[in-house]
Amino acid sequence: MAAHGSGLLVGLDGDDTLWHSESHFITTTERLGDLLAGYLDDDASHEDHLIEVERRNLARFGYGVKAFTLSMIETAVEVSGGRVTGSEVQRILDWSKELMDHPVELLDGVVETVGSLAEQHDLVLVTKGDLLHQESKVARSGLTELFDGIHIVSEKDPDTYRRVLEAHGTRPDSFVMVGNSVRSDVQPVLQLGGTGIHVPYHTTWALELVENDDAGGYERVERIADVPGVLERLAGT
Ligand SMILES: [Mg+2]
Repeated sequence: MAAHGSGLLVGLDGDDTLWHSESHFITTTERLGDLLAGYLDDDASHEDHLIEVERRNLARFGYGVKAFTLSMIETAVEVSGGRVTGSEVQRILDWSKELMDHPVELLDGVVETVGSLAEQHDLVLVTKGDLLHQESKVARSGLTELFDGIHIVSEKDPDTYRRVLEAHGTRPDSFVMVGNSVRSDVQPVLQLGGTGIHVPYHTTWALELVENDDAGGYERVERIADVPGVLERLAGT
């Protein structure tokens, strides 16, 4: 229930909205390219191959570092025609542990903005990925106390958001979701009748890209610090 005067429930995404994530996956993908260089045909792209494997595994393995790791290993096996060695697979596993253990790096303006949003609105974190890893990132972010609810979900679709709203006794027209992915943070919320605010990260994972990313019907701001201003404007109309 809304404890604050605004009556709005504001949802925030975690990865690439509050803290850096995709940039670490890109670095690891580059390392995979070095590892596979001797196995790849000259015109083949390990990145394209990896994305294809991830796409095909998504419904089984879901999101996060563990799914990414399995897809890297599968890519290595396929690209090498089964010749990838045990020690090369071990290197991939070591990168995966590094990704899990990486310190949480908050994006610029997050501490101030989330702090000020929490003074005026009920806040929920809605994030997807490995349960254990996401729990650990939330805990290490130092932001836990500012949220009225933390929802770690396996997919961000309209049903997921409906359950989040039910848990907080909020109607869609009182819900605003803020995140870096039009596909996961904006479109499903618009479908429910809520409001979406897109805060792009400098890079977007291929499987989060949408074709009609400019279809409109939602707000877009350059940085998270601009979100409180948008909420004030929306409240005034
Ligand atoms: Mg995100």
